[in-house]
Amino acid sequence: MSEIFISKSQSLKGLQCLKSLYLEKYQPELIPEIDESQEALFQSGKEVGFVARGLFPGGVEISSEDIPIDEQIEKTKAEIKKGTKILYEASFSHNGLFIKSDVLTKGGGGWELYEVKSTTKIKEENFHFEDGAFQYHVLNSAGIPISKAYLVHINNQYERHGDIEVDKLFMVNDISNDIKKMQSDILKQINALQSMLKGEAPEIDIGEYCETPYECGLKTHCWKHIPEGSVFNLKGRGIKPFEFYRKGIVNLNDIPIAKLPGHGQIQLKCALGKKDYINKTALRGFIDSLWYPLYFLDFETLRGPIPLFNGTKPYQQIPFQYSLHYIEKADGKLRHSEFLAEPNTDPRRAIVEKLKRELPENACVVVYSIGFEKGVLNNLKSWFPEFSNELDNVINNLRDLMVPFRNQHYYSWGMQGSYSIKSVLPVLVPELGYEGMEISDGDMAMLAYKKMCESQDPQEIENIRKALLNYCRLDTFGMVKIVEKLKECT
Ligand code: SF4
Repeated sequence: MSEIFISKSQSLKGLQCLKSLYLEKYQPELIPEIDESQEALFQSGKEVGFVARGLFPGGVEISSEDIPIDEQIEKTKAEIKKGTKILYEASFSHNGLFIKSDVLTKGGGGWELYEVKSTTKIKEENFHFEDGAFQYHVLNSAGIPISKAYLVHINNQYERHGDIEVDKLFMVNDISNDIKKMQSDILKQINALQSMLKGEAPEIDIGEYCETPYECGLKTHCWKHIPEGSVFNLKGRGIKPFEFYRKGIVNLNDIPIAKLPGHGQIQLKCALGKKDYINKTALRGFIDSLWYPLYFLDFETLRGPIPLFNGTKPYQQIPFQYSLHYIEKADGKLRHSEFLAEPNTDPRRAIVEKLKRELPENACVVVYSIGFEKGVLNNLKSWFPEFSNELDNVINNLRDLMVPFRNQHYYSWGMQGSYSIKSVLPVLVPELGYEGMEISDGDMAMLAYKKMCESQDPQEIENIRKALLNYCRLDTFGMVKIVEKLKECT
């Protein structure tokens, strides 16, 4: 029987879960369409691959756009026959296996393989070695003996100054020995995938692999039997829902409460009784740690593997927007200010100057999840040392509104184990929430801003601008309302 076609990405999917590969092959209609953020991730990976070609200039690309796989393979063969020494996306198949290699070069020692990743290090858990080993097997079997294989990834210490220096942006790691040693294992895995695909759908129950290393798109299909209010609604350190699940414990009612850590017991009691848990003394301590003038700050940021501006590094958070609600004194009026960068500008100086004008030296600055805002302020400090004193002052005056929820000083069953503002706000202030909003999280805000930068349509730009302002404003207004609610509780 002829072998079943498996691409490299399908084989890696099969390593995470055989069933996901089987269903992708035979019931592709179960796979949901990729959403905007997955598409953005894909495009970002493509961009990284494209920039990395700068390490090997002058190559020939074997395009896959609207070109059947057979033609891609034939074109690759023709280029090799012609004597082309550098190939991008070269295509090969052997015994039903298909690969496209990011970069192949031919030097004095023979063919070299370069696999490009957007990560900042080699990630064993993301199957980076298996990726190389699979390609090595197909290339050697297809008559392209590989003398060396490398994994190319982003160098997170690179700082942009002027044009991107490709040789500094990337790090190149020799993985030849690692993947050579894996050859017999990878062959066994390929054989196992091939024979699995020739049989019945594998009976595989849900497990940790549904979420790691990648979130599986088939959860709606495989998790249908999990009821609302299950062990999977309990979250946090020391809670292992799959341990319960494998013992047949699925419903919250069936969980032996003594088997949970303290914070899990609070979650379970609240979920079963549909009630809230409030530690008034601790909440009062938090409220007493705030003072007037009271400011509520939230940033939206851009980040990506290719640094956008001078002085920035890969994946560094670059603020392009903030919202600031503030109350000058007790019983004072709530006021608001905001900043949103013009499209295609470097927003950093304008944002730091406006912040300096708007944040009084003695202000208490409430944020939600202090690590993020502190990181952004520290980044601003590194770019504009002349504002160090003012920014240090803001950093010292930060207060984290997430703390009472993370520490379960206030826990409601409706939060379902989460203490993110997206879960907390609709529970504490039901008239506010993110549902139905055009932009409802930080990733969407970043994508919207990027879209605004690319758009030529004034109406579209205006619509995105309004949506971004509405979203960021809700984050800080929500914090104001959460503090009001906490005060009422104490
Ligand atoms: S949801 Fe889980 S069990 Fe189902 S295919 Fe995906 S990884 Fe496998």
